[in-house]
Amino acid sequence: MAVQLLKLDGFLQSIGTAIRPQMDMSIYHGAFDCACGNSHAYGPHIDLLCEGSMRVVMVCPNDRSYMTNVAIKTFLLVKFRGFASIAGWHAKTPEVLTAAHSVFNELR
Ligand SMILES: [Zn+2]
Repeated sequence: MAVQLLKLDGFLQSIGTAIRPQMDMSIYHGAFDCACGNSHAYGPHIDLLCEGSMRVVMVCPNDRSYMTNVAIKTFLLVKFRGFASIAGWHAKTPEVLTAAHSVFNELR
């Protein structure tokens, strides 16, 4: 299913209160729909930019200018039920991408 691409402010809103990634993501496996239009398998090779409430921003492994806000679906917070992409963002220029990274780097 295609991920809806938002402008940066809308994308940041979709994350909510963001912190540096700190969840143990190694327990989650599966594919996620990426903002680039493809689907990728999640694994340690996928960079995470930030973490919200049961959601993380994943960087596209093929094109780092695409990022996707991905919800972690669970049953009663225990059983992993897969990834659900909430929204995507595409940095149209390297300058915009650098600016976005500096926003995420300032997170605690
Ligand atoms: Zn991708």
